[in-house]
Amino acid sequence: MSAVSSSVAKPLPFDEDFIRQLTEKYPTPFYIYDERAIRENARRLNAAFAWCDGFQEYFAVKATPNPHILNIMKEEGFGADCSSLAELVMCERVGITGDDVMFTSNNTKAEEYAKAVELGAIINLDDITHIPYLADSVKMPEQLCFRYNPGPLREGNTIIGKPEEAKYGFTKEQLFAGYRQARELGAKRFGLHTMVASNELNAEYFVETARMLFELAVELKKETDISLEFVNLGGGIGIPYRPGDQPVDLEHIGNGVKKLYDEMIKPAGLDPLNVLMENGRCITGPYGYLITSAIHEKHIYKDYVGVDACMANLMRPGMYGAYHHISVLGKENAAADTTCDVVGSLCENNDKFAIDRKLPKVEIGDLLVIHDAGAHGHAMGFQYNGKLRSAELLWKPDGSVQQIRRAETLDDYFATLDF
Ligand SMILES: *Cc1c(COP(=O)(O)O)cnc(C)c1O
Repeated sequence: MSAVSSSVAKPLPFDEDFIRQLTEKYPTPFYIYDERAIRENARRLNAAFAWCDGFQEYFAVKATPNPHILNIMKEEGFGADCSSLAELVMCERVGITGDDVMFTSNNTKAEEYAKAVELGAIINLDDITHIPYLADSVKMPEQLCFRYNPGPLREGNTIIGKPEEAKYGFTKEQLFAGYRQARELGAKRFGLHTMVASNELNAEYFVETARMLFELAVELKKETDISLEFVNLGGGIGIPYRPGDQPVDLEHIGNGVKKLYDEMIKPAGLDPLNVLMENGRCITGPYGYLITSAIHEKHIYKDYVGVDACMANLMRPGMYGAYHHISVLGKENAAADTTCDVVGSLCENNDKFAIDRKLPKVEIGDLLVIHDAGAHGHAMGFQYNGKLRSAELLWKPDGSVQQIRRAETLDDYFATLDF
């Protein structure tokens, strides 16, 4: 038999009975997050950087903006990386404030800076013109960070694009001018940030990012006598969406960065320099699942399985052509001997969770699990075509399941309409 059953290649932490019971209380589609796995993974990242006293991960709130998830992050010692007013307010309400908040925004409004200043967040400016903009519209904070865009010096990848074509960050010349200008305007403590990749699976890439920032830190000290307090390597650690992908070796990143720290930062007299990250995807991505029911099958020029979730619940496949693995519950060990497109109900032909996917024969009523939806999944949901966003459930380490966001209703949909 030639068909390799792709559905067995990615293990699931739950079985059909568990999910089917949940559907009695929570109709599909819904998201479910595995808290135990999220916590274990968070501890792995912290352990990889245990050598750095000031290491901190600032969880990228946009990946999974739910207060219950943020609470878990807080308990694991993470801060939060925000880029909008709503994300700042969510952190405030969860009790993540002060320098546990990194505000890495772009094209930012004054009211958002005002909130970030009010919370005492570390503000990470995206452009040199925002130095006077922030100073004039709110005030010059004591601590400031700048986002560096290395342009043609780094390659980037498909999600974030080439750095020289990305809208983010300062050029190198602007960076040096920016630190001087901010110092003149009263800033006293400085950090340096970059984010040049997204969903990057090569651990060495992040070590090279550290090298780039460490070089800049040394050069900045020489040229301006500014000693940075931290470098922020950004987010972007990838996850193994495809069954054959290898997870990123976090220890390799931690050890590689330590080696460079000892070689570059210590001799330059810049120790202690805190190393920070702001990952989203690798923190929650693999531990969230979109559960959906097969409601129709259709056979025309191709074969289709229609499910009750759609691109409005998870837009990554439609938006980026991203691969999300799909398991059919109860058929985990069945041969993947049919080929189909798994589609939603939007009047958009890119509303497909999978194209030409080999799956075990899907029956109407089967429950499908769309894997690796824990980050940039529900968060990217939208209401186009009058589709409503689904519920989010948290599966706790004690085995209980808590609804942490209810499904939207028609009333929610009509709430903003004035008629
Ligand atoms: C989106 C984003 C992140 C998180 O990216 P992941 O790929 O989820 O790790 C971190 N920092 C900034 C500035 C971002 O825009």
